[in-house]
Amino acid sequence: MSNIEKPAYPQTYEELLALATRQESVIKTLKSTLTFQQNKTREILYSIPLGLLVVNDQQRIEALNKLVEEFFGYQSEELVSQKISVLFPDVTRLEVNPKPVQVLGKRKNGETFPAEIFVNEYDSQLNFVHVQDITERARLEKLRQDFVAMVSHDLRTPLTSLRGFLTMVDEGAYGEISSQGHRAVERAQSSADLLISLVVDLLDAEKIENGDFEPEYQETTSGTVVDRAMYAIQGAAKAADVTVEKDVTNDVFWADEDRIVQVIVNLAGNALKFSPAGSVVTISAGLEGAGVVFRVRDRGPGIPKHLQSAIFERYRQLNQPKETKKRGFGLGLAICKALVEKHNGRLWVQSEEGKGSTFCFSIPLLDEKYRT
Ligand code: ADP
Repeated sequence: MSNIEKPAYPQTYEELLALATRQESVIKTLKSTLTFQQNKTREILYSIPLGLLVVNDQQRIEALNKLVEEFFGYQSEELVSQKISVLFPDVTRLEVNPKPVQVLGKRKNGETFPAEIFVNEYDSQLNFVHVQDITERARLEKLRQDFVAMVSHDLRTPLTSLRGFLTMVDEGAYGEISSQGHRAVERAQSSADLLISLVVDLLDAEKIENGDFEPEYQETTSGTVVDRAMYAIQGAAKAADVTVEKDVTNDVFWADEDRIVQVIVNLAGNALKFSPAGSVVTISAGLEGAGVVFRVRDRGPGIPKHLQSAIFERYRQLNQPKETKKRGFGLGLAICKALVEKHNGRLWVQSEEGKGSTFCFSIPLLDEKYRT
């Protein structure tokens, strides 16, 4: 049985009146709490550092916050019940989209700017639109593109001719040079090679980012690509005092051979960079499931678990071995990943700190119909 005493029913008119008065005051308190909460929410939404718009199914603005006023230079009253096209001249209808879309924004003074909008459904009649002025981002993107264009036109060509000239000097085209001279030329050659590879990395990343790269498929074998990659890294392996071993079943597959070699060279280059002198790097390849899987294993320091996905991001570098001179831009793995994914394959790493790393990638065996 409950101990709670039940309230007595009002027996008289006075008691009924007293009850009604008490209820009225409770309702008043609830109402004012609700209004207070609503105002608070409105205030937060108004001053939140995100541009927010509420748009109805007629594509008219129902509400907006302070940042939208600032982006577009209007007062709230001027925009409420206006068509969305006042702010975004190219947009007649907002579609709910899980991804942000870039559109042109138009300010009250007629100026236009790049904007990014993200449309979320609030209910069947209202959409929430999150707006961002991305002028600064677009400016930086333009700067980056100009920089890459500058690098490709103004650096790549002279660097390549400088490299050619050094080879000619080394080969004695301008007279015999001493062994000391040879060593100096070799050092200059490897510096030029490093600069060229940085420029090539930048250009490759740009090409992939712009969607300008498609693999040129040809028939090849895992043995061919591994041998070509091993040939390309033999100088670096010697310099690092690391032995490179292979363990390859020579399977036929279809891919852009040069690009697969590029991926292995890149992974093996990293492996050499992190390998202790006297250790072994193993490159293996074999059929697994419906693809060829390549593995590049080193006995270096390994990569902490929490950083194993970050290393595939562009411009992401972790600690470099102290003695390394071969610094990149942190683009190598991002490029490898994109190249492998363009072949519908996958690139991943298995690593334990202190025990070395194994970078693996798979290239699917394609049907005839996909090979052109
Ligand atoms: P970069 O082109 O500058 O070398 P990458 O994209 O190839 O950059 O590599 C990104 C980061 O991943 C490197 O800074 C390095 O810290 C880490 N990393 C790559 N390969 C290895 C490896 N075999 N062992 C340990 N760390 C590695």
